[in-house]
Amino acid sequence: MIIAANLKTNLTRKETNEYLKEIESFVTSKNLTQEVLVFPAMSSLDHNDTSIIVGAQNAYATRDGAFTGEIGLVHLEEFAIKTVLIGHSERRHILGETQEELVKKFNYYKELGFKIVYCVGEPLDKREAGKSEMMEYITSQYAGIDTEYENLIIAYEPVWAIGTGLTPSLEDIEDIHTALKAKSTAPILYGGSVKVTNAKEVLALKNVDGILVGSAALYGEHFCSMIAFAQELEVQ
Ligand code: PEP
Repeated sequence: MIIAANLKTNLTRKETNEYLKEIESFVTSKNLTQEVLVFPAMSSLDHNDTSIIVGAQNAYATRDGAFTGEIGLVHLEEFAIKTVLIGHSERRHILGETQEELVKKFNYYKELGFKIVYCVGEPLDKREAGKSEMMEYITSQYAGIDTEYENLIIAYEPVWAIGTGLTPSLEDIEDIHTALKAKSTAPILYGGSVKVTNAKEVLALKNVDGILVGSAALYGEHFCSMIAFAQELEVQ
């Protein structure tokens, strides 16, 4: 399974380095074979000699150039980063990234062979509008995306569940993941208020191939427990 941590705008470079060491030492000491991804804040990227996959939370579709406040390929190459998160709800809904902009990023990093974690998910009004409107909304987030890209991972993250402590029912998560499986063979992670107390039941669901964890992943020991849950489920 794929267990990913989105550290958002948290942890300095020093703290991130300590965090990565903690996670790696847990994974290696327990011989865990799960795919573990960590997305640190941009300024916390570093030359990490680690078996954990470190990715960027965002990057502009450029090698370099005049794009104030953005980072490009050269900045990722400096740290041998080959994984990028695209379309996180905070980028779509707080920072106003459009589907068109996301597609540009997707295509740029796809051409370079990056592992791409591409996020989709509905806001509350779309969920409340009923299943068909909700699925139509989520489908619109697939527009222009090569769903057969071999290094694609989809993260289904309902916007209203991110950082709120709310989650869809387990049945809903399974239903939506099953519907999304029909669109792409890519693994699908669930994200949105996953914690150490609900991770195991989410990971056990059909068509859930892993989790993307925000707030709860900031506690290294909690994130480690979630990796261990995935391992337990896989050997069952
Ligand atoms: C996220 O940021 O991708 C996320 C799922 O956040 P949280 O776990 O805090 O809801």
